[in-house]
Amino acid sequence: MQLLCDIPSGTEVLVHICCAPDASYGVRALRERFNVTGFFYNPNIDSREEFRKRLRATLDLQEKDPFSLVVGAGGEEGWEDAARGLEGEPERGRRCEACVRLRMRGTARKAADLGMPAFGTVLTVSPKKDAAMVNRVGREEAERSGLRFVEADLKKGDGYLKSVRASKEMGLYRQRYCGCRYSMR
Ligand code: SF4
Repeated sequence: MQLLCDIPSGTEVLVHICCAPDASYGVRALRERFNVTGFFYNPNIDSREEFRKRLRATLDLQEKDPFSLVVGAGGEEGWEDAARGLEGEPERGRRCEACVRLRMRGTARKAADLGMPAFGTVLTVSPKKDAAMVNRVGREEAERSGLRFVEADLKKGDGYLKSVRASKEMGLYRQRYCGCRYSMR
């Protein structure tokens, strides 16, 4: 993990979780420095069945490697609005930025509701995610909400390989596409 912020050790941080494999390394790495609560919030997922599979895998991870977890709900209409007109964008393009922004905004809102001073995400574990974009969007949403964002690149230092290894060891469900129906192409 490469940490790109100076948020003090021990700070309470609400960490957005996109899926159990990314969280299997990401939550563990961030927990070494911060007081982490996970937040599963993904209105981008294309079907209820897939949503349930990813949530079940996250609960499975939580049972095997305990951490506090909050499960978010709703936001699907907002996601459809954010993605409208961007259907043909490639992965890492403008639709993905809108999608990440929606989830970071939801995470910031939940962190504020819970009285936490900072939030972050495990999204940068994936080599398919543009860490610079995720960190910029997180920073902008933090400024908007008066909180701090944990800027990091979790794939650095073999973070992705560590997540593959950890999720295999724990037998966690690993999805084959990012999440929305356009990423199935
Ligand atoms: S490809 Fe992934 S990040 Fe991009 S819009 Fe779809 S679910 Fe969101």
